[in-house]
Amino acid sequence: MDISFSGRGIRLSRAEAPDVVLGLPAPTKVRLPLRQSSSTPCVAVVEKGDEVKLGQLVADGPAPVHTPIAGRVVGIEELPAADGSAVPVLVIEGDGSGGSVRYEADGIPLKRDPELLLERIRQAGIVQAGRESLPLADMIEEARSPRGHLAATGAALSRPVGHLVVRCLDVDPYLVNLASVTAGLAKDASELDLALQVLLHITAAEQVHIVLGNGQQPAAVLALAAERDWSVLRVDEAVYPMAGDALVAAGASGAEPDVAWRRVDESGTLVLDIDVVLQVVAAVRDGRPVLDRVITVWRGGRVKAMRVPMGVSFADIAKAAGHDGVYGKVILGGPLQGLAHHTTDFPLTKSIPGLTLQEQKEVVHDRNEPCISCGLCAMACPMRLLPGMLSRYCEYGQWADAEQAHLFTCIECGCCAYVCPAGRSMVQLMVQGKNEVLATRRTG
Ligand code: SF4
Ligand code: SF4
Repeated sequence: MDISFSGRGIRLSRAEAPDVVLGLPAPTKVRLPLRQSSSTPCVAVVEKGDEVKLGQLVADGPAPVHTPIAGRVVGIEELPAADGSAVPVLVIEGDGSGGSVRYEADGIPLKRDPELLLERIRQAGIVQAGRESLPLADMIEEARSPRGHLAATGAALSRPVGHLVVRCLDVDPYLVNLASVTAGLAKDASELDLALQVLLHITAAEQVHIVLGNGQQPAAVLALAAERDWSVLRVDEAVYPMAGDALVAAGASGAEPDVAWRRVDESGTLVLDIDVVLQVVAAVRDGRPVLDRVITVWRGGRVKAMRVPMGVSFADIAKAAGHDGVYGKVILGGPLQGLAHHTTDFPLTKSIPGLTLQEQKEVVHDRNEPCISCGLCAMACPMRLLPGMLSRYCEYGQWADAEQAHLFTCIECGCCAYVCPAGRSMVQLMVQGKNEVLATRRTG
């Protein structure tokens, strides 16, 4: 089945996934932000001067943090995140000992109680990166949670998880991490099989879907899907953002994107990246927490996929990828959906899928001229909105009008801004509008 929900979006050439995922030498120092997702920050469970082993829990919370090196905690400092907020960061210096915690392996995870497996996923600190990066355990809870109660009896109106969607293609065409991880499963998809069996055991989802680009042919994954009777959804790789959450969820359910929910998991569909799905195996079978992740490093059209320990600075990642010097703009993620950061002196977290290093001449500046009602944004919007009108509502503080015009259906893909001849800051206006509406709701 192909996903071509609206036939809109924008055509962009996609970066080619490299054959190998490069490793990084073990770092001698890491800085681990206590906020690794959009959820509440973790609380440190170690203090300055404590000795820690590789894999040890150092901060607990919705997405617990574990250290990828053995050494000593030298302090907690504050660093500015991309959104400007100050984030507390645990600083650990390695001692070169390689001392590691003993993980408790489990050879028969599918025989365990689903709640125990969900708790292992929570403890491993798995995070699904995205517009809102969320702890996987919270997403699963949300997707399967009751939707209300019968007034007469008080019985829970539960709705089971409908669709479990595994995305094997990066949403942003400049990122290659998911495609690289998928290419690594071309000959052996047994880990993916176990991960999905575990997720089915926990969620009782009705249907599994594997989302692949139209050029991806990972033989073992396709054979597994055929054997298990899982559907394969094909995405036109040249059209952005067809691998986005709302669009693949719509492709999986065969319905229009469900606009009633703010996030896709709230609608009972789980859209998970393939690297996150594989982390489930490490968590429930090997007892191993998330210590690293595969990211894309992009500069000047040259793309690398790298497996990087958490807490390594962007500057060190760029250096290991063969880049050095001054950048015009540093973007956490791809250029279409990522967030710009003013410095490379910030460490990798679980919610950062890549690093885009732009030269000064590549940096696009919004001009924010008045809308000329050309309608190009409406032609490009994959959610079939009228972005020109929505952006004006947001610009002039007409929040109620914006909400009525389906502001919350906007997936912040940026297609409208990409085609806008007036260079308007479309996504920023939509985001500001959403924040204002939510703030109004909170204060009544
Ligand atoms: S209005 Fe939202 S969903 Fe539509 S193109 Fe713009 S950013 Fe994308
Ligand atoms: S593309 Fe830009 S100028 Fe044209 S209608 Fe949309 S917002 Fe207005």
